[in-house]
Amino acid sequence: MKDELMKMLEEREDEMIEIRRYLHEHPELSFKEEKTATYIADFYKGKDVEIETNVGNGYGIIVTIRGDLEGKTIGLRADFDALPINEEADVPYKSKNAGVMHACAHDAHTAYLLILADCLLQLKDQMKGTIKIIHQHAEEQPPGGAKSIVDSGKLDDLEAIFGIHMLPMAKAGTVGYHSGYSFNGRTYFKLKIQGIGGHGSSPHKANDAIVAGAYFVTTVQTIVSRRVNPLDAGVVTIGSFDGKGSFNVIKDSIEIEGDIRYSNEEAQKVINREFKRIVKGLEGVFGVTCELTYTADYPPLYNDPELTTFVADTLDGTQDKDIKEVKEFPKMSPSDDFAYYLEEFPGTYFYIGCTPKGVEEPYFNHHPKFDIDEDAILIAAKSVGQVVCSYLDQAK
Ligand code: MN
Repeated sequence: MKDELMKMLEEREDEMIEIRRYLHEHPELSFKEEKTATYIADFYKGKDVEIETNVGNGYGIIVTIRGDLEGKTIGLRADFDALPINEEADVPYKSKNAGVMHACAHDAHTAYLLILADCLLQLKDQMKGTIKIIHQHAEEQPPGGAKSIVDSGKLDDLEAIFGIHMLPMAKAGTVGYHSGYSFNGRTYFKLKIQGIGGHGSSPHKANDAIVAGAYFVTTVQTIVSRRVNPLDAGVVTIGSFDGKGSFNVIKDSIEIEGDIRYSNEEAQKVINREFKRIVKGLEGVFGVTCELTYTADYPPLYNDPELTTFVADTLDGTQDKDIKEVKEFPKMSPSDDFAYYLEEFPGTYFYIGCTPKGVEEPYFNHHPKFDIDEDAILIAAKSVGQVVCSYLDQAK
């Protein structure tokens, strides 16, 4: 089945590129991907699959391919939303929606998975087990689509899940993997500190919110330096301190906003606990009132070590001419809501190199000039196809 699948994918490379370019020209923002979802659903029209649309909190789609033979149930996920970025890349398939751009290669993720799904469907008479194809909306904007799809219960029977992300840090032909915690988790916060306003000449009759806020800014920096295990990583960033007022007026209230990152659950737990303790302490020390909004966006992404090794060994062992190099990638600081699937099911998120041809220093994901080497689309399809065949081929 594997050889046949690889051949079928090669024959449909042009179609993958065509789909990617179409999606690239017609990007849609998170939670607003109505046309993209219709395009995906239309692709499966008339095919012998079960398709569910509007899954989760948006336009999520789950397509189920049942093999004729008994076996395991796995999930494959590709995201399909774009970003609020004005494309600056000079390409013939440039975005036709001003201010919106596929700057994170979700167009390519969707293109490879559509064709791979169609090929697997044609091989279902020799396929063991069931594959759930997850076309996911809204990866880029918290709360994201992934958690709601997991919560829908429609994936409860998954025994494993796999996903890929295109990364231009390596050339097309390189596949990357990382075991264990691989992407950081992230939390957003907003803190309103309420004091009492007054005249600059009479501080004893007021309660200065700016002074309390200033202590807060410096105190939270001790969380990572003094509380988090130095072998774990964390970041607490104050991105906004709104205390604008008049030079001789004591400010009654201020608002602070920021962003927290952590490399694993332990660091997350410590930062959550300490952050809230400091907020409470601020009320005690300064007599102010604090109103805290504290929202965990995406958890740290944990790749199952066993399945990561399985993927690396499978791809390393293939003689495929397009998969040239399989290597470990470093742990990385972005966040991705694929982490939610990995909280529920063992699986791994791995990387497909896609540096555009002839480029030494590529623009990274989310840059207005971001682009990929389209050779990477077939490589994604082949890599995931190899993993699917090897995984389903194992005894149940
Ligand atoms: Mn992305």
